[in-house]
Amino acid sequence: MPRVPGPERKREVGRGERVLPGVWRLRLPLPWPGVPHGNAWAVAAGDGIVLFDCGYHDEGSLGHLERALAMVNLKLEHVRLLVCTHAHTDHYGQAATVVDASGCELWMHPNHEHMTRHANDPEEWLRRRLEVARQSGVPSEPLERFAESRRGSNTGIARIIEPDKDLLPGVEIGTDLGTWTVHETPGHAPSHVCLYQPERRLLISGDHLLGRVSLYYDYGYTPDPAGEFLSSLDTVETLGARLCLPGHGRTFTDVQAHIEANRSLVTERVAKVLDVVTERGPITIFDAVPQVYGEAITPMNANWWMSETLCYANHLERLGRLERIPGEDGGPERWVAAD
Ligand SMILES: [Zn+2]
Ligand SMILES: [Zn+2]
Repeated sequence: MPRVPGPERKREVGRGERVLPGVWRLRLPLPWPGVPHGNAWAVAAGDGIVLFDCGYHDEGSLGHLERALAMVNLKLEHVRLLVCTHAHTDHYGQAATVVDASGCELWMHPNHEHMTRHANDPEEWLRRRLEVARQSGVPSEPLERFAESRRGSNTGIARIIEPDKDLLPGVEIGTDLGTWTVHETPGHAPSHVCLYQPERRLLISGDHLLGRVSLYYDYGYTPDPAGEFLSSLDTVETLGARLCLPGHGRTFTDVQAHIEANRSLVTERVAKVLDVVTERGPITIFDAVPQVYGEAITPMNANWWMSETLCYANHLERLGRLERIPGEDGGPERWVAAD
C-alpha cells in the first residue's frame, strides 16, 4: 500500500517571487497565529530597488528578508530607498536594520507616533492599553495575565528610526516602472499611506486593502478611526487601480470589489453595534463584543474585536447615535443609544 504522507507543517521562511517585470513580492514570516506572513515589495529603480515595507524584527528575521531577496537575485545592498506604508511592526520593524545595511533613506508618514512612542516606552504603552481595556469592562484577572505576557516581550522593532522624508501627498517615488504617488489612508493606522503608479494602475495598499477583508484599527490616537478608514476607501476608489499589491497575501485585480466588500462589512458591523447597544444598553464594550460577533471573547480575538467595537462605538458617538456613560469610582464606561 502506498504510504499516505502525513500533514507536513512547512517551516515558514522568507520567499521571493517576481510578479511583474521589475516587481518582486518578498513574503516574510510572522510570529502571529492566523497571520503567517507579510509582504515587502521590491521595485526596480536604476541599478537597485525601492523597497516598500520590510517585515517584522525578530531573531533571524533579517535572514528571511535576505533569503527572499536572494531568491530573485537581489541583495540588501541594492536597496536605494525604503518606503513604509505604515509604522506597524510587520511593515516597519526591520527599517533600522535595512537602513544600516544599505545606507538608504527611510520615507514614512509623519503620524508614526502610534508606534514610535510604544517602542520608546513599552511600559507606558502597556499602561495605556490596560487602561482602555479596563474602561471597556475587561475583568482584572485576564487583564493581568495579558500584561504579564507582554512585559519584556519582543517589540518587533529593531530600533526606532525617524523618517528622512515625510511621506505626504505631493512626494513622488521614482522607479523603472514610473513614478509612484502618495495617498494618505488613515484608519487601519494613523500613519497609513497607499502608493499608486498611475500609468500602470498599480496600488501598493499596505494593510488598507487586503485580498481577504480584515478590519483592524489602531484605537486611541485619532478621533474616529472607523470613519477615517471609510474616507480612505473613497480616496483609493478615485484612483482606479487595476492591480493591488497588498501587505499580506497575493496580488489581486478586482480592486473595486474589494473596496466595496470593506465598505459593506464596516457598515454591517456599525449597524450591529448600534443594534446591540440600543437593545441591551447601558452595556460595556466587553459585554457587547460577543453580541456583535456572535462568538465568545477569547484571548486570541479579544484585543482585535474590542478595539474594533470601541472604534464603531466612537464613530456612532460622533454621529450622535450613541452616548457613553462614564464609569463611576473607577468602574468601566457603558454605552447607550442617544435619545
Ligand atoms: Zn498594519
Ligand atoms: Zn500588516
